[in-house]
Amino acid sequence: MRYLYVGATPEVDREALMAVRERMAAEFNAPVRELELAAIEFALDRGRRQYGSIPVLELLSRVCPADALKLLAVTERDLFIPVLTFVYGHAQLGGRVAVISLARLRQEFYGLAPNREIFLERAHKEALHEVGHTFGLVHCVDRNCAMALGTNIRQIDGKRAAFCVSCAAQLRRRPRELEK
Ligand SMILES: [Zn+2]
Ligand SMILES: [Zn+2]
Repeated sequence: MRYLYVGATPEVDREALMAVRERMAAEFNAPVRELELAAIEFALDRGRRQYGSIPVLELLSRVCPADALKLLAVTERDLFIPVLTFVYGHAQLGGRVAVISLARLRQEFYGLAPNREIFLERAHKEALHEVGHTFGLVHCVDRNCAMALGTNIRQIDGKRAAFCVSCAAQLRRRPRELEK
């Protein structure tokens, strides 16, 4: 049996984490296991006051349990890669590990009134997107698909928290990986 691990760094909103775990279990039809992760202060870039997603992925590869189908990490820390201002998440394409950041998913980040529903919906989309990459899915031309590229919050909000027919079919074509 292989598990879809959903890990979290200590500061993560637990209710959001539970919601993401439930959604992942339903979407990928795999048993979900929890994994507590240490704080990612080692990845802090003091100049940018953001956290490098590449060193985080390297760490996740090292701590990824042997029985993990995939490991998705959730953090509240704002992530970046050197060539971009920020990233909502990052994954090893066709690999085992991915990370999403909740930092820019709340309405408050944009100076708006809190809205739990919108926040959780965005978290689901990002989780699907990054785990989708680990299953080998690349960016989708369907702007409503969870695998569409989302570089700003309007693009995220334009997506559905679901895969399009084509991406869903590609996922289904990987039954061996899911059964191992
Ligand atoms: Zn992507
Ligand atoms: Zn798609």
